[in-house]
Amino acid sequence: MVAGCLVAVLVGDRLALHLEKGILIGVALLLAVANLIFTWVIRAFKNRQTESCGVRPLVISQTLVDLFALSCVSYVLGGIELPVLVLFLGEIIIVTLFCHRKVSLLITLVAACFAALPLLLEHRGVIPPLSLFGSPYQESLIADPRFAGAYMTFLLLAFLFFWYLVSEITVSLRLRELQLQRAHEKLLLLDREKTRATLLATHELKAPLAAISSYVYTLRDGYCGELPEQARQVVERIGKRADMLVKKIFDIILLSNLKTQVVKNERFKVFELNGFLAQELAEARELAAQHEIQVVDRLATQPVYYICGIREQLHTLMSNLLRNAITYSRPGGRVEVSLEGRRDRVTVVVRDHGIGIPREKIERIFDEHFRTNDAARHNPDGTGLGLPIVREIARLHHALVRVRIPDDGGSEFRVTFRRQTQPQAEGAPDGKDSDH
Ligand code: ADP
Repeated sequence: MVAGCLVAVLVGDRLALHLEKGILIGVALLLAVANLIFTWVIRAFKNRQTESCGVRPLVISQTLVDLFALSCVSYVLGGIELPVLVLFLGEIIIVTLFCHRKVSLLITLVAACFAALPLLLEHRGVIPPLSLFGSPYQESLIADPRFAGAYMTFLLLAFLFFWYLVSEITVSLRLRELQLQRAHEKLLLLDREKTRATLLATHELKAPLAAISSYVYTLRDGYCGELPEQARQVVERIGKRADMLVKKIFDIILLSNLKTQVVKNERFKVFELNGFLAQELAEARELAAQHEIQVVDRLATQPVYYICGIREQLHTLMSNLLRNAITYSRPGGRVEVSLEGRRDRVTVVVRDHGIGIPREKIERIFDEHFRTNDAARHNPDGTGLGLPIVREIARLHHALVRVRIPDDGGSEFRVTFRRQTQPQAEGAPDGKDSDH
């Protein structure tokens, strides 16, 4: 509105309009000062974090200043010649949205008074009638008491009707919001209960399943007497299924622990990343050999990097990524592992040339239990929990996991850590306590 007043003053002369520039400049100044004060007060509230109790009085006082300014502007522009009064409706909307219904009704009545005030004062001869276009009809209309009365009544009724509409919409929106909030809280509660029940059941299944698995292998290995070949094969299959279930249960429990874990600062240690990866690769090569996959690395020729983290957790993270890279490669394929250091970061890159991930599924692969159709066909034993675990561990280490789809096929997983330059330093990554 400040800019509007100043523009009106500047273009008024050029368009030969009858404008009271003094009033417009006064209004612009008043609004500019009021805006400055309101901005300053809002900042002060924000700093003290008490804005919720301070916003309403501020909105009300700003609205009152705006209504006064609008009243002056509508007087200068000749309120009945131009649809300036529509601007009052904007103020009614703001107040109705932010304030209590009764307060907004009161402000609407005040707005109607402010809108009618210039006409009333002009009608009573307190102030001279102004007309933007110098219209001869304006003066005679204002002097006519029937017109003045009808005009003011119309204003009052129009404002009240508008207030009623907006406040009804606001009330129903607030009601919806409340219902949605309640439904959301209920869903969260149900979800928490469901997770708790699942975890409880999972915990209870863990021990019997592990026992079944060990009995099955006792049978298979002939400790209870030699089994016929067919029976041995069946027992072998039971053992594999039991192993898969045990792994799934371990992953479910691990993931839920990671999500709710409070990691103590002292568990983070600074260690050499190259050496750690070399150990991980040695383990991975055993699995790779079973799948006829070659694992190559350039760690020996790369600079030595240090990172800060919990070794066991990072072992889980790396072995999940390496296992995926190997599992989703085709026999004879290659998995490459390298390090990329940049300023204060170091990235572990695990690249494979396997079945790849469809571009449109990239967003979802970190979702729990999500598996692509190709992956399910290629490796029916997957749980869809490996990458969610990777994501949680990365979060605890303030590390970033990204996936890239190389143009020549396969996939590339990149985990970026903050580099440590002081191997003797210990503590949580980024020097912060981790309370996840
Ligand atoms: P799982 O491997 O047990 O299915 P993950 O959570 O480790 O579960 O991976 C989720 C899904 O992400 C996989 O099912 C697969 O679709 C996809 N994925 C992960 N790593 C790779 C990879 N290296 N190549 C192709 N697809 C992958």
